[in-house]
Amino acid sequence: MEETALYIHIPFCKQKCLYCDFPSFANSEELMTDYIRALSIEIRKLGNKKISTIFIGGGTPTYLNLEVLKILKKSLEELNLSKEIEFTIEGNPGTFTREKLKLLKDMGVNRLSIGLQAVQDELLEKLGRIHDFNTFLNSYNMARDMGFNNINVDLMFGLPGQDIEMWRHTLEIVINLNPEHLSCYSLIVEKGTPFFNLYSEEDLPDEDTVSEMYSLVKEFLSEKGYLQYEISNFSKNGLECKHNLVYWNLKNYIGVGSGAHSYYDGIRYRNEINVKRYVEAITKAGSAVVELHNNTLEDNMEEFMFLGLRKIKGISIEEFRQRFKKDIFSVYGDAIKKYKSNGMIILEKNRLYLSSRGIEISNYILSDFIIESSEIGKK
Ligand code: SF4
Repeated sequence: MEETALYIHIPFCKQKCLYCDFPSFANSEELMTDYIRALSIEIRKLGNKKISTIFIGGGTPTYLNLEVLKILKKSLEELNLSKEIEFTIEGNPGTFTREKLKLLKDMGVNRLSIGLQAVQDELLEKLGRIHDFNTFLNSYNMARDMGFNNINVDLMFGLPGQDIEMWRHTLEIVINLNPEHLSCYSLIVEKGTPFFNLYSEEDLPDEDTVSEMYSLVKEFLSEKGYLQYEISNFSKNGLECKHNLVYWNLKNYIGVGSGAHSYYDGIRYRNEINVKRYVEAITKAGSAVVELHNNTLEDNMEEFMFLGLRKIKGISIEEFRQRFKKDIFSVYGDAIKKYKSNGMIILEKNRLYLSSRGIEISNYILSDFIIESSEIGKK
Protein backbone atom coordinates (compact mmCIF):
# COMPACT_ATOMS: atom_id res chain seq x y z
CA MET A 1 0.00 0.00 0.00
CA GLU A 2 1.33 3.44 -0.93
CA GLU A 3 2.06 5.65 2.05
CA THR A 4 0.84 9.18 2.50
CA ALA A 5 1.94 12.13 4.62
CA LEU A 6 -0.62 13.79 6.87
CA TYR A 7 -0.80 17.51 7.61
CA ILE A 8 -3.09 18.65 10.42
CA HIS A 9 -3.89 22.34 10.54
CA ILE A 10 -4.55 24.12 13.82
CA PRO A 11 -5.78 27.65 13.05
CA PHE A 12 -5.49 29.17 16.53
CA CYS A 13 -2.90 31.63 17.82
CA LYS A 14 -2.71 33.52 21.07
CA GLN A 15 -2.05 36.73 19.18
CA LYS A 16 -1.68 37.48 15.50
CA CYS A 17 1.90 38.35 14.53
CA LEU A 18 2.07 41.57 12.54
CA TYR A 19 3.63 40.03 9.42
CA CYS A 20 1.53 36.86 9.34
CA ASP A 21 -0.72 35.98 6.42
CA PHE A 22 -1.19 32.31 7.36
CA PRO A 23 -4.72 31.02 7.95
CA SER A 24 -4.58 31.52 11.72
CA PHE A 25 -6.78 33.45 14.12
CA ALA A 26 -6.49 34.99 17.56
CA ASN A 27 -9.38 35.34 20.02
CA SER A 28 -11.15 32.25 18.69
CA GLU A 29 -10.49 29.95 21.64
CA GLU A 30 -14.21 29.25 22.07
CA LEU A 31 -14.12 27.35 18.75
CA MET A 32 -11.34 24.95 19.78
CA THR A 33 -13.48 22.07 21.02
CA ASP A 34 -15.87 22.06 18.06
CA TYR A 35 -12.92 22.40 15.74
CA ILE A 36 -11.05 19.41 17.14
CA ARG A 37 -14.23 17.32 17.03
CA ALA A 38 -14.64 18.18 13.35
CA LEU A 39 -10.97 17.45 12.77
CA SER A 40 -11.47 14.02 14.35
CA ILE A 41 -14.25 13.26 11.86
CA GLU A 42 -11.94 14.21 9.00
CA ILE A 43 -9.08 12.16 10.46
CA ARG A 44 -11.34 9.12 10.80
CA LYS A 45 -12.04 9.33 7.06
CA LEU A 46 -8.41 8.45 6.37
CA GLY A 47 -9.42 4.89 7.17
CA ASN A 48 -6.64 2.39 6.80
CA LYS A 49 -4.26 4.54 4.72
CA LYS A 50 -0.66 4.05 5.82
CA ILE A 51 0.67 7.32 7.26
CA SER A 52 4.41 7.91 6.81
CA THR A 53 4.72 11.34 8.47
CA ILE A 54 2.48 13.63 10.49
CA PHE A 55 2.96 17.37 10.74
CA ILE A 56 0.69 19.35 13.04
CA GLY A 57 1.11 22.97 11.94
CA GLY A 58 -0.66 26.22 12.22
CA GLY A 59 -1.35 28.53 13.71
CA THR A 60 0.07 27.49 17.02
CA PRO A 61 -0.79 23.84 17.71
CA THR A 62 0.75 24.00 21.20
CA TYR A 63 -1.77 26.72 22.04
CA LEU A 64 -4.48 24.02 22.12
CA ASN A 65 -5.55 23.22 25.67
CA LEU A 66 -4.98 19.82 27.25
CA GLU A 67 -8.61 18.74 26.91
CA VAL A 68 -8.73 19.16 23.15
CA LEU A 69 -5.24 17.72 22.73
CA LYS A 70 -6.60 14.59 24.41
CA ILE A 71 -9.43 14.39 21.84
CA LEU A 72 -6.88 14.76 19.04
CA LYS A 73 -4.68 12.05 20.58
CA LYS A 74 -7.61 9.66 20.65
CA SER A 75 -8.45 10.19 16.99
CA LEU A 76 -4.83 9.70 15.94
CA GLU A 77 -4.70 6.38 17.82
CA GLU A 78 -7.07 4.93 15.23
CA LEU A 79 -4.69 5.58 12.33
CA ASN A 80 -2.47 3.11 10.54
CA LEU A 81 0.91 4.68 11.28
CA SER A 82 4.19 3.61 9.80
CA LYS A 83 6.60 2.18 12.40
CA GLU A 84 9.26 4.69 11.38
CA ILE A 85 6.90 7.65 11.48
CA GLU A 86 8.25 11.19 11.76
CA PHE A 87 5.70 13.10 13.82
CA THR A 88 6.23 16.85 14.12
CA ILE A 89 4.32 19.52 15.97
CA GLU A 90 4.89 23.25 15.66
CA GLY A 91 5.02 25.13 18.92
CA ASN A 92 5.58 28.69 19.94
CA PRO A 93 7.62 29.66 22.97
CA GLY A 94 5.51 30.17 26.04
CA THR A 95 2.57 28.09 24.79
CA PHE A 96 3.65 24.71 26.07
CA THR A 97 4.02 23.28 29.55
CA ARG A 98 5.61 20.06 30.81
CA GLU A 99 2.15 18.55 31.02
CA LYS A 100 1.42 19.35 27.37
CA LEU A 101 4.80 18.03 26.23
CA LYS A 102 4.20 14.81 28.14
CA LEU A 103 0.85 14.38 26.40
CA LEU A 104 2.43 15.11 23.01
CA LYS A 105 5.11 12.49 23.65
CA ASP A 106 2.41 9.98 24.56
CA MET A 107 0.66 10.94 21.33
CA GLY A 108 3.79 9.85 19.43
CA VAL A 109 5.26 13.28 18.62
CA ASN A 110 8.99 12.82 18.06
CA ARG A 111 9.94 16.15 16.47
CA LEU A 112 9.30 19.66 17.68
CA SER A 113 9.49 22.81 15.57
CA ILE A 114 9.81 25.99 17.61
CA GLY A 115 9.29 29.49 16.16
CA LEU A 116 11.98 31.78 17.53
CA GLN A 117 12.72 34.13 14.57
CA ALA A 118 15.40 36.29 16.29
CA VAL A 119 17.19 36.53 19.64
CA GLN A 120 16.80 40.31 20.02
CA ASP A 121 13.69 41.18 22.03
CA GLU A 122 13.26 44.48 20.20
CA LEU A 123 12.98 42.61 16.89
CA LEU A 124 10.53 40.10 18.35
CA GLU A 125 8.41 42.98 19.55
CA LYS A 126 8.44 44.58 16.10
CA LEU A 127 7.25 41.28 14.63
CA GLY A 128 4.40 41.18 17.13
CA ARG A 129 5.59 37.85 18.57
CA ILE A 130 4.16 36.88 21.95
CA HIS A 131 7.52 35.80 23.36
CA ASP A 132 10.90 37.22 24.24
CA PHE A 133 14.19 35.35 23.96
CA ASN A 134 14.13 34.13 27.55
CA THR A 135 10.70 32.58 27.09
CA PHE A 136 12.07 30.74 24.06
CA LEU A 137 15.06 29.53 26.05
CA ASN A 138 12.85 28.19 28.84
CA SER A 139 10.60 26.41 26.34
CA TYR A 140 13.56 24.97 24.42
CA ASN A 141 15.27 23.71 27.57
CA MET A 142 12.00 22.28 28.85
CA ALA A 143 11.56 20.31 25.59
CA ARG A 144 15.14 18.98 25.78
CA ASP A 145 14.61 18.06 29.38
CA MET A 146 11.46 16.14 28.43
CA GLY A 147 13.48 14.08 25.96
CA PHE A 148 12.72 15.79 22.64
CA ASN A 149 15.85 14.96 20.68
CA ASN A 150 14.82 16.27 17.28
CA ILE A 151 14.10 20.00 17.38
CA ASN A 152 13.82 22.54 14.60
CA VAL A 153 14.17 26.26 15.24
CA ASP A 154 12.58 28.76 12.84
CA LEU A 155 14.52 31.95 12.18
CA MET A 156 13.92 34.99 10.00
CA PHE A 157 16.19 37.52 8.38
CA GLY A 158 15.61 40.78 6.50
CA LEU A 159 13.69 42.20 9.48
CA PRO A 160 13.16 45.93 10.06
CA GLY A 161 16.05 47.24 12.15
CA GLN A 162 18.08 44.03 11.75
CA ASP A 163 21.68 44.32 10.54
CA ILE A 164 24.25 41.67 9.63
CA GLU A 165 25.75 41.62 13.12
CA MET A 166 22.37 41.03 14.73
CA TRP A 167 21.73 38.17 12.33
CA ARG A 168 25.17 36.69 13.04
CA HIS A 169 24.49 36.99 16.77
CA THR A 170 21.15 35.18 16.37
CA LEU A 171 22.87 32.35 14.51
CA GLU A 172 25.67 32.07 17.08
CA ILE A 173 23.31 31.92 20.04
CA VAL A 174 21.01 29.39 18.40
CA ILE A 175 23.82 27.12 17.22
CA ASN A 176 25.16 27.01 20.75
CA LEU A 177 21.89 25.38 21.71
CA ASN A 178 22.64 22.63 19.19
CA PRO A 179 19.23 22.13 17.50
CA GLU A 180 19.00 19.30 14.96
CA HIS A 181 17.38 21.44 12.27
CA LEU A 182 17.04 25.10 11.27
CA SER A 183 14.60 26.81 8.91
CA CYS A 184 15.77 30.29 7.90
CA TYR A 185 13.39 32.37 5.81
CA SER A 186 13.72 35.95 4.66
CA LEU A 187 10.80 38.15 5.66
CA ILE A 188 8.27 38.78 2.94
CA VAL A 189 6.00 41.70 3.65
CA GLU A 190 2.59 40.61 2.39
CA LYS A 191 -0.16 43.00 1.40
CA GLY A 192 -3.05 42.97 3.83
CA THR A 193 -0.88 42.41 6.92
CA PRO A 194 -0.36 45.20 9.51
CA PHE A 195 3.33 45.05 8.60
CA PHE A 196 2.56 46.29 5.12
CA ASN A 197 1.23 49.58 6.50
CA LEU A 198 3.72 49.86 9.34
CA TYR A 199 6.96 49.58 7.40
CA SER A 200 8.07 50.98 4.10
CA GLU A 201 11.02 49.81 2.04
CA GLU A 202 13.42 52.21 3.81
CA ASP A 203 12.73 50.50 7.14
CA LEU A 204 13.84 47.14 5.80
CA PRO A 205 17.38 45.98 5.02
CA ASP A 206 18.15 46.55 1.33
CA GLU A 207 18.40 43.73 -1.21
CA ASP A 208 22.21 43.46 -0.97
CA THR A 209 22.09 43.20 2.81
CA VAL A 210 19.40 40.50 2.65
CA SER A 211 21.46 38.57 0.15
CA GLU A 212 24.53 38.95 2.42
CA MET A 213 22.42 37.60 5.30
CA TYR A 214 21.51 34.59 3.21
CA SER A 215 25.15 33.96 2.28
CA LEU A 216 26.08 34.27 5.94
CA VAL A 217 23.59 31.65 7.08
CA LYS A 218 24.79 29.22 4.42
CA GLU A 219 28.46 29.68 5.33
CA PHE A 220 27.93 29.76 9.05
CA LEU A 221 25.76 26.67 9.23
CA SER A 222 27.96 24.70 6.90
CA GLU A 223 30.98 25.48 9.14
CA LYS A 224 29.00 24.22 12.10
CA GLY A 225 28.20 20.92 10.42
CA TYR A 226 24.66 21.56 9.20
CA LEU A 227 23.79 20.43 5.69
CA GLN A 228 21.69 22.68 3.52
CA TYR A 229 19.19 20.39 1.81
CA GLU A 230 16.68 22.96 0.60
CA ILE A 231 16.77 26.68 -0.19
CA SER A 232 15.79 27.63 3.39
CA ASN A 233 16.38 24.44 5.37
CA PHE A 234 19.44 23.03 7.12
CA SER A 235 19.88 19.95 9.24
CA LYS A 236 22.33 17.67 10.90
CA ASN A 237 23.18 14.61 8.85
CA GLY A 238 20.14 12.38 8.31
CA LEU A 239 17.75 14.68 10.14
CA GLU A 240 16.15 16.43 7.19
CA CYS A 241 12.41 17.01 7.67
CA LYS A 242 10.88 13.94 6.01
CA HIS A 243 7.44 15.53 5.91
CA ASN A 244 8.55 18.58 3.95
CA LEU A 245 10.52 16.35 1.60
CA VAL A 246 7.20 14.73 0.68
CA TYR A 247 6.04 18.13 -0.65
CA TRP A 248 9.28 18.81 -2.50
CA ASN A 249 9.33 15.30 -3.97
CA LEU A 250 5.74 15.71 -5.21
CA LYS A 251 4.51 12.72 -3.24
CA ASN A 252 1.07 12.16 -1.74
CA TYR A 253 -0.07 14.14 1.27
CA ILE A 254 -3.44 14.72 2.84
CA GLY A 255 -4.18 17.92 4.70
CA VAL A 256 -6.97 18.02 7.27
CA GLY A 257 -8.39 21.06 9.01
CA SER A 258 -9.48 24.51 7.87
CA GLY A 259 -7.62 25.83 4.84
CA ALA A 260 -5.54 22.62 4.55
CA HIS A 261 -4.29 21.59 1.11
CA SER A 262 -3.89 18.05 -0.19
CA TYR A 263 -2.19 16.39 -3.12
CA TYR A 264 -3.31 12.83 -3.61
CA ASP A 265 -3.09 10.65 -6.71
CA GLY A 266 -2.52 13.72 -8.88
CA ILE A 267 -5.47 15.66 -7.46
CA ARG A 268 -4.97 18.91 -5.58
CA TYR A 269 -7.74 20.04 -3.27
CA ARG A 270 -8.28 22.54 -0.48
CA ASN A 271 -10.56 22.85 2.52
CA GLU A 272 -12.71 25.79 3.56
CA ILE A 273 -10.54 28.35 5.35
CA ASN A 274 -13.16 29.88 7.66
CA VAL A 275 -13.10 27.94 10.93
CA LYS A 276 -16.84 28.11 11.62
CA ARG A 277 -17.76 27.17 8.07
CA TYR A 278 -15.21 24.34 8.15
CA VAL A 279 -16.75 22.90 11.31
CA GLU A 280 -20.23 23.22 9.86
CA ALA A 281 -19.30 21.57 6.55
CA ILE A 282 -17.56 18.64 8.22
CA THR A 283 -20.32 18.12 10.75
CA LYS A 284 -23.12 18.28 8.19
CA ALA A 285 -21.57 16.85 5.05
CA GLY A 286 -18.39 15.07 6.20
CA SER A 287 -16.26 17.15 3.84
CA ALA A 288 -15.09 20.77 3.69
CA VAL A 289 -13.41 20.64 0.28
CA VAL A 290 -14.06 23.90 -1.59
CA GLU A 291 -11.63 23.60 -4.46
CA LEU A 292 -10.44 20.60 -6.42
CA HIS A 293 -8.08 20.42 -9.36
CA ASN A 294 -7.19 17.35 -11.33
CA ASN A 295 -3.56 17.98 -12.23
CA THR A 296 -2.74 17.59 -15.90
CA LEU A 297 0.50 15.98 -17.02
CA GLU A 298 1.91 19.48 -17.55
CA ASP A 299 0.89 20.57 -14.04
CA ASN A 300 2.66 17.58 -12.57
CA MET A 301 5.82 18.11 -14.60
CA GLU A 302 5.93 21.80 -13.62
CA GLU A 303 5.36 21.06 -9.97
CA PHE A 304 7.97 18.31 -10.02
CA MET A 305 10.51 20.85 -11.33
CA PHE A 306 9.38 23.80 -9.21
CA LEU A 307 9.39 21.88 -5.97
CA GLY A 308 12.26 19.53 -6.79
CA LEU A 309 14.68 22.29 -7.72
CA ARG A 310 14.19 23.80 -4.27
CA LYS A 311 16.18 20.84 -2.97
CA ILE A 312 19.93 21.30 -3.02
CA LYS A 313 20.39 17.96 -4.76
CA GLY A 314 17.68 18.87 -7.26
CA ILE A 315 15.82 16.32 -9.32
CA SER A 316 16.64 12.98 -10.88
CA ILE A 317 16.44 12.91 -14.66
CA GLU A 318 15.62 9.21 -14.54
CA GLU A 319 12.79 9.79 -12.10
CA PHE A 320 11.35 12.42 -14.44
CA ARG A 321 11.41 9.86 -17.26
CA GLN A 322 9.78 7.18 -15.13
CA ARG A 323 7.07 9.41 -13.71
CA PHE A 324 6.06 11.21 -16.88
CA LYS A 325 7.21 8.82 -19.63
CA LYS A 326 9.02 11.73 -21.25
CA ASP A 327 12.58 12.78 -21.77
CA ILE A 328 13.23 15.89 -19.65
CA PHE A 329 15.20 17.52 -22.50
CA SER A 330 12.27 17.20 -24.87
CA VAL A 331 10.19 19.25 -22.43
CA TYR A 332 12.71 21.57 -20.78
CA GLY A 333 15.65 21.46 -23.21
CA ASP A 334 15.65 25.23 -23.87
CA ALA A 335 15.47 26.30 -20.22
CA ILE A 336 18.10 23.76 -19.15
CA LYS A 337 20.45 24.83 -21.94
CA LYS A 338 20.01 28.51 -21.08
CA TYR A 339 20.72 28.15 -17.36
CA LYS A 340 23.40 25.50 -17.76
CA SER A 341 25.38 27.75 -20.06
CA ASN A 342 25.42 30.63 -17.56
CA GLY A 343 26.22 28.37 -14.62
CA MET A 344 22.88 28.71 -12.84
CA ILE A 345 21.96 25.07 -13.28
CA ILE A 346 24.26 22.08 -12.97
CA LEU A 347 23.74 18.81 -14.77
CA GLU A 348 25.73 16.05 -13.14
CA LYS A 349 25.40 12.32 -12.53
CA ASN A 350 21.93 12.16 -13.99
CA ARG A 351 20.69 14.93 -11.68
CA LEU A 352 19.78 18.54 -12.32
CA TYR A 353 20.20 21.13 -9.60
CA LEU A 354 20.63 24.85 -9.03
CA SER A 355 24.11 26.23 -8.39
CA SER A 356 24.67 28.62 -5.44
CA ARG A 357 24.20 31.56 -7.79
CA GLY A 358 21.12 29.88 -9.22
CA ILE A 359 19.60 29.49 -5.76
CA GLU A 360 19.88 33.23 -5.19
CA ILE A 361 17.69 33.94 -8.19
CA SER A 362 15.65 30.75 -7.97
CA ASN A 363 12.27 32.48 -8.37
CA TYR A 364 13.39 33.93 -11.66
CA ILE A 365 14.81 30.64 -12.95
CA LEU A 366 11.86 28.52 -11.87
CA SER A 367 9.45 30.75 -13.78
CA ASP A 368 11.11 29.45 -16.94
CA PHE A 369 9.91 25.94 -16.08
CA ILE A 370 6.29 26.83 -16.67
CA ILE A 371 5.11 25.01 -19.74
CA GLU A 372 3.21 27.00 -22.33
CA SER A 373 0.35 24.71 -23.38
CA SER A 374 1.26 25.28 -27.04
CA GLU A 375 4.80 24.03 -26.31
CA ILE A 376 3.78 20.68 -24.92
CA GLY A 377 1.66 19.96 -27.98
CA LYS A 378 4.77 20.30 -30.14
CA LYS A 379 6.81 17.72 -28.27
S1 SF4 B 1 2.46 32.36 15.55
FE1 SF4 B 1 2.80 31.82 13.41
S2 SF4 B 1 0.75 31.39 12.57
FE2 SF4 B 1 0.46 32.45 14.55
S3 SF4 B 1 0.23 34.57 13.98
FE3 SF4 B 1 2.40 34.26 14.43
S4 SF4 B 1 3.37 33.74 12.45
FE4 SF4 B 1 1.13 33.53 12.23
